[in-house]
Amino acid sequence: MTTVSEAEALILAAVPQAAAVDVPLADARGAVLREPLTADRPFPPYNRVAMDGIALSHATWAGGGRAFPVAGVVRAGEAPRALPDPSQCLEIMTGAVLPPGCDCVVPVEQLVVAGGVATLRDGVAVDPMQHVHRLGSDRPAGATLLNAGTMLWGPACAVAASVGNTHLRVSSSPRITIVSTGDELVPVEATPLPHQVRRSNAYALGAALATAGFTDIRTAHAPDDPAAIARTLRAALADSRFIVLSGGVSEGRFDHVPGVLATLGVVQRLHKVSQRPGKPLWFGIGPDGQAVFGLPGNPVSAAVCLYRYVLPALWRHVGAGLRSADARPRAVLTVEVRFKKPLTLFQPVRVCEHTDGRRLATPVPMNGSGDLAGLAVSDGVLELPDGGRTFAAGEAHVIWLWADPYGMLMQTG
Ligand code: AMP
Ligand code: MG
Repeated sequence: MTTVSEAEALILAAVPQAAAVDVPLADARGAVLREPLTADRPFPPYNRVAMDGIALSHATWAGGGRAFPVAGVVRAGEAPRALPDPSQCLEIMTGAVLPPGCDCVVPVEQLVVAGGVATLRDGVAVDPMQHVHRLGSDRPAGATLLNAGTMLWGPACAVAASVGNTHLRVSSSPRITIVSTGDELVPVEATPLPHQVRRSNAYALGAALATAGFTDIRTAHAPDDPAAIARTLRAALADSRFIVLSGGVSEGRFDHVPGVLATLGVVQRLHKVSQRPGKPLWFGIGPDGQAVFGLPGNPVSAAVCLYRYVLPALWRHVGAGLRSADARPRAVLTVEVRFKKPLTLFQPVRVCEHTDGRRLATPVPMNGSGDLAGLAVSDGVLELPDGGRTFAAGEAHVIWLWADPYGMLMQTG
């Protein structure tokens, strides 16, 4: 059977790349940049004063000068203003241009200003160009500041703003259709009969996708009837780049999803992964490159497969940098976990941060892969690879946190 890492590799290799679109800078947060950004000016664009204080000539201080008549006040945003005489100083604010004739700044904390004269406190030493953020010292004009592939977190948005990009070319966020299947499932607003349950998976999956910033989501439901599933999937394939089904992919007589997908030209790439829960996972590629995931219907299985496979596939689709397995967030087991089966176990855990910097994971009591109430009080799942053994307390393993779908990304641009 396909292992977890083989399944991941196979899925990541199969997902197509997202189209690029232009979006306003204010809407680019969390998107992946698809063009390089270059410096239109040096960074910083002038000798930028980095402290509030006085600007003066270092040579005057080196020659014994300690008291400097204040020739004026220079604010941030003023055009450059020269020091009239080297014996004097200019009062100066953070963000102002270093005045011609000055080559250092003494912070206000190191001064006494009285009667129009700034006097250095005893023992204050001054270095040339101190507290000056020098013209071009970060990046020269024309330098590449961000490469295509950069995730647009706050700092990257700041760079885009600094070079005057009102719009940015980014990966488009794919439309995703979530399709739940099952005759036993009724809408949330319905009162279930004793043999029915309310549909919950679409809410779990939709919430997880939205937490990761994928918000262009449609939902649909189909009963366990091949014609109805085909109708729903045909519409989804016409509309969406990603389709995430839940239920109907196991061995039951009414698990029609793989068969119907085949009739619609969705080519199976994967069925069944050696893991628990989530073993029946199905994955295929549609006629127009749509990525189609058939997640098992059990709520814990569906959640695990979404975080472990669907979200990484979406990240790959938009071109975000994925961490390799050995660089992913980890947590340390606080107790031993015995698992005899030769499968990868996804163990729901609660997580806390130890003062020594380790992240600690404690299994939550679970009543199998249908226990959505148990899952709801966990922080995520710990991936315990390849089973057939006891996982000792103190072992560190990869963690998939519900709150942190971005945790497997790294800045690569
Ligand atoms: P299946 O994968 O279709 O065999 O479903 C496995 C189990 O998951 C069954 O007990 C289903 O009732 C349950 N299940 C499937 N889909 C959902 C859903 N959308 N919400 C809640 N439970 C579900
Ligand atoms: Mg079912």
